[in-house]
Formats: sequence, C-alpha cells, structure tokens
Amino acid sequence: MKKPFVTLQQLEELSKSFPTPYHLYDERAIRENARKLKQAFSWNPGFREYFAVKATPNPTLMTILHEEGCGMDCSSLTELMLCDRVGIRGEEIMFSSNDTPAEDFHLCAKLGGTINLDDITHIEFLERTIGALPKRMSCRYNPGGNFEISNMIMDTPGEAKYGLTKPQMFQAFRILRDKGVTEFGIHAFLASNTTTNDYYPTLAMQLFRLAVELHAELGVHIGFINLSGGVGIPYRPDQQSADILQIGEGVRKVYNQILVPAGMGDVAIYTELGRFMLGPYGCLVTRCIHQKHTYKNYVGVDACACNLMRPAMYGAYHHITVMGKENLPCDHLYDVTGGLCENNDKFAIDRWLPQVDIGDFLVIHDTGAHGHSMGYNYNGKLRSAEVLLCEDGTAKLIRRAETPEDYFATLDF
Ligand SMILES: *Cc1c(COP(=O)(O)O)cnc(C)c1O
Repeated sequence: MKKPFVTLQQLEELSKSFPTPYHLYDERAIRENARKLKQAFSWNPGFREYFAVKATPNPTLMTILHEEGCGMDCSSLTELMLCDRVGIRGEEIMFSSNDTPAEDFHLCAKLGGTINLDDITHIEFLERTIGALPKRMSCRYNPGGNFEISNMIMDTPGEAKYGLTKPQMFQAFRILRDKGVTEFGIHAFLASNTTTNDYYPTLAMQLFRLAVELHAELGVHIGFINLSGGVGIPYRPDQQSADILQIGEGVRKVYNQILVPAGMGDVAIYTELGRFMLGPYGCLVTRCIHQKHTYKNYVGVDACACNLMRPAMYGAYHHITVMGKENLPCDHLYDVTGGLCENNDKFAIDRWLPQVDIGDFLVIHDTGAHGHSMGYNYNGKLRSAEVLLCEDGTAKLIRRAETPEDYFATLDF
C-alpha cells in the first residue's frame, strides 16, 4: 500500500489557501532521507551529494538540501544562476552538462564550480572560452555496450550521447595533466531509475578500476569519483525501495577491494542524485472536476500533463490515491485525464480506483523530482504552484502558480 504523506483533513485545510492543482513537498521526510544518504557514505570522509538541480529547481528545496550538506549538480546557465542566487558556489557546484554553450562554461568557471567535461573536444573549447583551465577537472566516462548486473541488461550506454570512450579518457587526462590540471575526477551515469541495491556498487567497480589504471599510467591524482544519479524510487506499490545503507556498504566493499590496495584510499565519493532525493517526498494535488462515460470511464482532473509530463511522455506509472477513500474497494476502472487537446494527457489508463466523485481530492504520488520541473505551457496551460509542508506542520508557498500575465510576458503586442 502506498500512503500519501498528507491526510484529507490537511488537504481540506490547505485548500483554503492554495487552489488545486499544486505540487506539495514534505520537508521532514526530505531532511530524513538526506541524512540517511549521508550516513550511508559516512565511511568516506570526502563524500558529498550534489543534488541534480534539474529534478526540482526550487530555491527553498535547494536550501533545505544545502543545509543537509548537499552541493548542487547543474547542467545549464540558468541552473548555475539559480545556485548563485541561492548562495551555492565554488566546489559545492558540479557542472555535468553536454553540448555545452560557451556562456555556460564561462559562468561555471566564474562561480568556481567543478566542470565535468562530456567530450574530449571540450578541452580546447573550454580553454578558448575561459583561458587557463581550472586546477580541478572531471571527465564523464561512457564504456559503451550494455550495462549489465548479473547478466541482466539494465541500460545501453552504447546508445547514449554522453561521455568519453575509454581511450579518450586516457587521452583527455594526459592533455589536461600537461596543461596543468592537478586534481581529476571521473563521472559516469550508466543506468536510470534503478531500484536494485547493486547499481552503485557495480558502477563503482568499473570506475574504481579505471581510476587505478589512469593513475598508474599517467601518474594523475584522482581526487573524486562521481557515481552520478540513477538510484531509483518505487513508483509502483509492489516495488521495493532501494536500501541506501546497503548501497553505501556495497560501495565501501568495492572501495576497499580496489582503491585502498592501490594507495588511493583518499578518493572522495560523490553522488548526483535527483529522483532519490525528492521523488517520493512530493506529490501533485488535484481535484476531480468532471466525469465522463463513453466507451470508457473518464475522471477529469484540474491538473494536466503540463503539470506532470512523465505519464504522457513515457507512459510512466504514478500511483493515485483518492483521498478519504483509502479503505474502499478499488472496483471502478478509470482513465484519469487532464484537459490538453492531446490524447496522451492521461495520468492513468485503465486504473482500478474506488468510485471517484466530482470534487474529490486525488493525490498523484512521487512527483517530487522530474515533476513540476518538466512542466510546460502547451494549450496555454499554466504551471502550478509549489507548496512546502514544513516540519512544524505549517504550509508555505514556495513557488506561486503562473498567471496569464506570465504567459503573455514574452509576447509582443
Ligand atoms: C538527470 C541527472 C542526474 C539525476 O538523475 P536522477 O535519475 O534524478 O537521479 C544526475 N546527473 C546528471 C548529469 C543528470 O543529467
């Protein structure tokens, strides 16, 4: 059973101040989870999580994570500007970008962030853009082929646009070393939304071995290894959540097996988690505004794919709770739809739910990451508000909803 982190009573109270739809976040759970991650890697003195800003680019949430010791992982100019505005700079910024415009590199260098290069040609591009290279640089690795755990294909890095090949990693580190870089990092993101506890340890083994080879062949100092994102969350009620303590322990074992004997026991471990940090601790609150019975039964809600794109974009499952009816039998088969003139604007297709009535609150689960941030304005729909359920039980507006004036602001009348 998936249980929302709010009750119907709380939602009724909230509705006096915040009209639906809105994304709601749970501060207490966000902090608890961030502390657990930190604990899982406490064996590594240099450990740091760089929250993937793109998942939920909200200053209040970024500040909460920063207070819990997280840096930020950016991939665009505006995300860098956002960090600067929030007061996060220097080594607390990781810049893992691809197909990068010059002005983005420029701002990252100015803020003192760590640049993670996606391609070998970016060395020269970066040098032309900012002059002398920073002393601390990272390169993104792509081993190609399939990424497998126990002969099961998890993902296909060979098809991904990211990263340098293995020979390019050696070539790039040699060039960077000869240009005066003194501290090196290795980064890879090889599988997305994994709920197995073996993803990070398996990835770490590949990266640690590469680090040992690079160190032996080029004499470079590897300062950090960035395991990036990819630890997933259980979107479906029958899925198990990843056990972050066990994941941390798995990485520690591989670290002791490979890095420590090579005299590299000072390497810091970084993560760039997005989904894992916030996904389960946000939900989309919406209300049923129409019911339609034709060839199928439709529940029409006041949110649409512009507020949460994942189901429309890749058929992603998001659990739905009809508030106040948690204990009623799920004996009605519905499509839950938004109002876009796009037939893929459905939060759920053929979903068994209790009988839904007009006015019911529906909570769409696990929208805390890659939810509001993927919003858009198709059909003139406006992005919704974001509300924080604070630790003290009060609620705070942390992003207002867009208004028609926002929509018209970029137009020329
Ligand atoms: C998207 C992204 C992440 C976060 O991915 P999650 O699946 O949310 O953990 C981390 N690093 C980079 C470079 C990314 O593009």
